Amino acid sequence: MKFAPNRMYVEAYHKCANCGLLLYEKPAKAGPSMLVRNGTIYCSEWCITWEAERTQRLRAEAVSAA
Ligand SMILES: [Zn+2]
Repeated sequence: MKFAPNRMYVEAYHKCANCGLLLYEKPAKAGPSMLVRNGTIYCSEWCITWEAERTQRLRAEAVSAA
Protein backbone atom coordinates (compact mmCIF):
# COMPACT_ATOMS: atom_id res chain seq x y z
CA MET A 1 0.00 0.00 0.00
CA LYS A 2 1.33 3.37 -0.92
CA PHE A 3 0.57 6.83 0.43
CA ALA A 4 -0.76 9.57 -1.77
CA PRO A 5 0.78 13.06 -1.58
CA ASN A 6 -2.09 14.11 0.72
CA ARG A 7 -1.00 11.42 3.23
CA MET A 8 -4.23 9.50 2.79
CA TYR A 9 -4.27 5.91 1.74
CA VAL A 10 -4.88 5.47 -1.92
CA GLU A 11 -8.16 3.62 -2.27
CA ALA A 12 -7.74 2.93 -5.93
CA TYR A 13 -5.07 3.33 -8.48
CA HIS A 14 -4.77 3.00 -12.21
CA LYS A 15 -2.26 1.14 -14.23
CA CYS A 16 -0.82 1.90 -17.62
CA ALA A 17 -2.45 -0.61 -19.96
CA ASN A 18 0.83 -1.11 -21.76
CA CYS A 19 3.72 -1.16 -19.31
CA GLY A 20 1.78 -1.64 -16.06
CA LEU A 21 3.18 1.47 -14.42
CA LEU A 22 1.01 2.39 -11.45
CA LEU A 23 -0.69 5.74 -11.73
CA TYR A 24 -2.16 7.18 -8.56
CA GLU A 25 -3.75 10.33 -9.87
CA LYS A 26 -7.37 10.33 -10.91
CA PRO A 27 -8.18 10.32 -14.63
CA ALA A 28 -10.01 13.62 -14.15
CA LYS A 29 -6.65 15.13 -13.32
CA ALA A 30 -4.99 13.55 -16.30
CA GLY A 31 -1.87 15.42 -17.18
CA PRO A 32 1.27 14.74 -19.16
CA SER A 33 2.01 11.74 -16.92
CA MET A 34 -1.36 10.08 -17.49
CA LEU A 35 -3.11 9.82 -20.80
CA VAL A 36 -6.53 8.34 -21.50
CA ARG A 37 -7.11 6.98 -24.96
CA ASN A 38 -10.34 5.20 -25.89
CA GLY A 39 -11.15 4.73 -22.22
CA THR A 40 -7.81 3.09 -21.54
CA ILE A 41 -5.18 4.66 -19.33
CA TYR A 42 -1.55 4.98 -20.36
CA CYS A 43 1.43 6.58 -18.66
CA SER A 44 2.78 8.21 -21.78
CA GLU A 45 2.35 8.84 -25.48
CA TRP A 46 5.13 6.31 -25.99
CA CYS A 47 3.03 3.52 -24.49
CA ILE A 48 -0.01 4.48 -26.57
CA THR A 49 2.07 4.26 -29.73
CA TRP A 50 3.69 1.00 -28.66
CA GLU A 51 0.34 -0.61 -27.90
CA ALA A 52 -1.14 0.56 -31.20
CA GLU A 53 1.81 -0.85 -33.13
CA ARG A 54 1.60 -4.18 -31.29
CA THR A 55 -2.12 -4.42 -32.06
CA GLN A 56 -1.40 -3.79 -35.73
CA ARG A 57 1.33 -6.43 -35.67
CA LEU A 58 -0.95 -9.01 -34.08
CA ARG A 59 -3.66 -8.30 -36.63
CA ALA A 60 -1.17 -8.72 -39.46
CA GLU A 61 0.03 -12.03 -38.01
CA ALA A 62 -3.53 -13.28 -37.58
CA VAL A 63 -4.27 -12.47 -41.22
CA SER A 64 -1.15 -14.18 -42.55
CA ALA A 65 -1.77 -17.26 -40.35
CA ALA A 66 -5.34 -17.65 -41.57
ZN1 LIG B 1 3.17 2.89 -19.81
